[in-house]
Amino acid sequence: MKVEIMDYCIRCGLCVEFYPTLFALNFVEDRIDVLPAAMQAEESVLRQVALDCAVGAISVKKGETK
Ligand code: SF4
Repeated sequence: MKVEIMDYCIRCGLCVEFYPTLFALNFVEDRIDVLPAAMQAEESVLRQVALDCAVGAISVKKGETK
């Protein structure tokens, strides 16, 4: 699965708090990093992760891992 954080992420930190093995706050770059484990996670988990983001900023797509 391909997981990306969209530019309109509001940096609320919810995804990092709920899924610390999948996402990390990058204070230096002021962004959310997608950790390697996110690419290996079950599709059902990733779909829930995407739904948990209040602004829909977590993109989950089938196919290439990046
Ligand atoms: S939950 Fe959504 S808006 Fe909040 S930090 Fe994560 S990607 Fe950004």
